[in-house]
Amino acid sequence: MNIDLHCHSNVSDGALPPAEVARRAARNGVQVWALTDHDQLGGLAQAREAARAEGMHFIDGVEISVTWRGSTVHVVGLRIDPANEMLAGGLAQVRSGRIERAKRMARELEEAGIDGTFEGALRHAENPAMVSRTHFARFLAAVGAVADTKDAFRKYLVPGKPGYVPHQWAVLADALAWIRAAGGHAVLAHPGRYGLSAGAMDALLREFRDAGGEAIEVVTASHSPDQVHHFGAVAAQYGFAASRGSDFHGWRESAELGSLPPLDPALRPVWRDWTL
Ligand code: AMP
Ligand code: MN
Ligand code: MN
Ligand code: MN
Repeated sequence: MNIDLHCHSNVSDGALPPAEVARRAARNGVQVWALTDHDQLGGLAQAREAARAEGMHFIDGVEISVTWRGSTVHVVGLRIDPANEMLAGGLAQVRSGRIERAKRMARELEEAGIDGTFEGALRHAENPAMVSRTHFARFLAAVGAVADTKDAFRKYLVPGKPGYVPHQWAVLADALAWIRAAGGHAVLAHPGRYGLSAGAMDALLREFRDAGGEAIEVVTASHSPDQVHHFGAVAAQYGFAASRGSDFHGWRESAELGSLPPLDPALRPVWRDWTL
């Protein structure tokens, strides 16, 4: 079965509206599909309706931004109840600082010689409250300040570069408590992306497990084949289930929906006990 449990619409930093992401997933042969916008549940109703029309099994999802020991890590919540007030309230709090942060990013970029990035990023954001580094990257690429969005992240939007402003996202234990309160399953997103030392990764995985985390992403676009293998072994070692998701954001910016290799059948998939 083709199962894709991680992607974005323009309700956060994806390029397409939720219903278009749904149709694209269906066209690519996805049978079980989750929309997991950053810190936002606003696209789920549209996504669910479009998924039904396409005959796909829809999973309500979200990707929560977390600050853990000074690093940003992402936690995906799957099969959450979008009506849960604790989750909705927590996410509103996580979203609240984005505009202020974007203004600070723009000031830094101005000092680096690039003007107008706040207004520019907002023009690329369907939802101003969700203005993100991705929207800055799209603006920088559109005006030719960088070759493409990847180049924007290399040169400007990552720690140590002008345009990177550290931000306090959710506390790990809080994010997991919200997901669990909403009846969902917590999945640590793209663990290979965090650049953590072996010791720090071990601490993160233990803390995540102790707080009720159930799974880690093993097959995700940002993992190399070696990392897919490595985090498969990590899942087995720590007793986590494994997940698969493209982290699709838009054409040419990311992997395609439903296109990644399947999970190793030796792993326990996060969907094993779900009625699909
Ligand atoms: P933010 O939540 O505003 O910090 O933006 C984070 C988003 O930026 C992620 O969800 C990715 O979509 C994107 N992103 C982060 N790092 C990179 C990178 N190195 N290359 C491309 N996109 C990235
Ligand atoms: Mn993103
Ligand atoms: Mn992420
Ligand atoms: Mn994502």
